[in-house]
Amino acid sequence: DTIADNLRRTAEKHSGRDALVDLPSGRRWTYAEFDAAVDELAKALMAAGIDKGDRVGIWSPNCPEWTLLQYATARIGAVLVNVNPAYRSHELAYVVKQSGMSMLVSATQHKTSDYRAMVEQVRPDVRGLKQVVYIGDPSWDELLAKASSTTDDDLATRSAGLSADDPINIQYTSGTTGFPKGATLSHHNILNNGYFVGELVGYTEQDRICLPVPFYHCFGMVMGNLAATSHGSCMVIPAPSFEPAATLEAVAAESCTSLYGVPTMFIAELALLDKGEASYDLSTLRTGIMAGSPCPVEVMKRVIAEMNMGEVAICYGMTETSPVSTMTRTDDDLARRTETVGRVMPMLEVKVVDPATGLTVPRGATGEFCTRGYSVMLGYWEQPDKTAEAIDQARWMHTGDLATMDDDGYVAIVGRIKDLVIRGGENIYPREIEEFLYTHPAIADVQVVGVPDAKYGEELMAWIIMRSGEPPLDADAVRKFADGKLAHYKIPKYVHVTDAFPMTVTGKIRKVEMREQAREILG
Ligand code: ATP
Ligand code: MG
Repeated sequence: DTIADNLRRTAEKHSGRDALVDLPSGRRWTYAEFDAAVDELAKALMAAGIDKGDRVGIWSPNCPEWTLLQYATARIGAVLVNVNPAYRSHELAYVVKQSGMSMLVSATQHKTSDYRAMVEQVRPDVRGLKQVVYIGDPSWDELLAKASSTTDDDLATRSAGLSADDPINIQYTSGTTGFPKGATLSHHNILNNGYFVGELVGYTEQDRICLPVPFYHCFGMVMGNLAATSHGSCMVIPAPSFEPAATLEAVAAESCTSLYGVPTMFIAELALLDKGEASYDLSTLRTGIMAGSPCPVEVMKRVIAEMNMGEVAICYGMTETSPVSTMTRTDDDLARRTETVGRVMPMLEVKVVDPATGLTVPRGATGEFCTRGYSVMLGYWEQPDKTAEAIDQARWMHTGDLATMDDDGYVAIVGRIKDLVIRGGENIYPREIEEFLYTHPAIADVQVVGVPDAKYGEELMAWIIMRSGEPPLDADAVRKFADGKLAHYKIPKYVHVTDAFPMTVTGKIRKVEMREQAREILG
């Protein structure tokens, strides 16, 4: 199936049901209306000269036009290039050039980001970028006005000529560990992954999914939008970018049954509930997904107990694998639902290997997590060397994540190979120290990184955010707390108290940046 065919079938089956609700603007579409709006935009793009395989960029916080463009490009076989709304002009120029983008659809402005000014700054330097369309601007209406010059037959012919194996999407990775790479994905890759995610959380046309996660990222556009449209469920946009209050209000206002977030989003929502300044009706919630970075056990437990999300799932994956590789199921016991990332998704293979030898390690031992099957990307866009480093000859994707798998197939993510700290020959997984320090009553949030050391090669530094009102901890206090509970070499030598960690827009902590800053802090 192509994404176009799949949407058409859903629209025929569930024509009168809600497809998309945008709370900031109050606009809403039924499936019949959504499908028709996608057709109109698809025709407009064809009339604007967009051919099969042409790259069309989208640079915007969440809005309905984002979603319409996602499906309209899929319907005409154009390759959608998701551009991170947190990028600035330099990064925009990079992805526009790297992807060979011929059209860019952009927001004009959001909060302090003047997208239009940045686009206009970059435009003279990129010859290939022939057309720019701004959302909510006369140029958007001009584009739509072109739709009438493409006939239904022209569009049908174009759609019929597409194959599910065609590239349809370039998603740049989050850039947590370095410069983003453009994962090239097919209809087959992402539609199947979205479909299976929806199956495993039990979506039907009755479900309404609150999506505060960014569409530019696979969490929003695949696990959110594609999971919804392949099941006739409704997509609800609470705000253009994450706001905890708007998110909880949207759940109540739209009777959402499902809520998504990276751990930091759920932490912010729980903090809001703690404050008790406003009350939110979360009684319609049933399920949801936490994913994107390590999900602290305490946070999972609180979401289950305090947010009425008894069936919430954890997903683990990466942009390069469409994204989800493993996922918890509702019938897993509470320990496994909170401490592991679940088991392999249907129709995929996974294994844990010794990075040095490539051989599968015994169950319970730590190694690199690898996956194979329909979800593995076609490759990194025009970076064959990087593709060859990540996908081996047998088509296994090497994720760079360290994991263990138990006898029943439950996978736990231990950390990233790049974050592994080697101190005096001992391997230390920062995640383990972080989970331990979370148990300190005065610590709100904590991250641990390695810093260079002349004697031991590396030493640990803990970055700590204190709970409000708590005096800062120093290295001595942390040592006292850890003494007798952690092996001596795992106790951080340095402690740095801060208000915030360097983050990506998806809410991931940038340890690369922390390591650089740590060097400066230590002089
Ligand atoms: P880059 O590859 O550019 O450095 P990134 O890897 O953060 O960035 P993504 O593809 O968005 O970009 O994120 C995938 C990574 O996120 C995984 O490789 C893993 O390290 C982490 N991750 C995702 N889900 C989970 C989870 N449930 N638990 C732990 N880690 C997770
Ligand atoms: Mg990655």
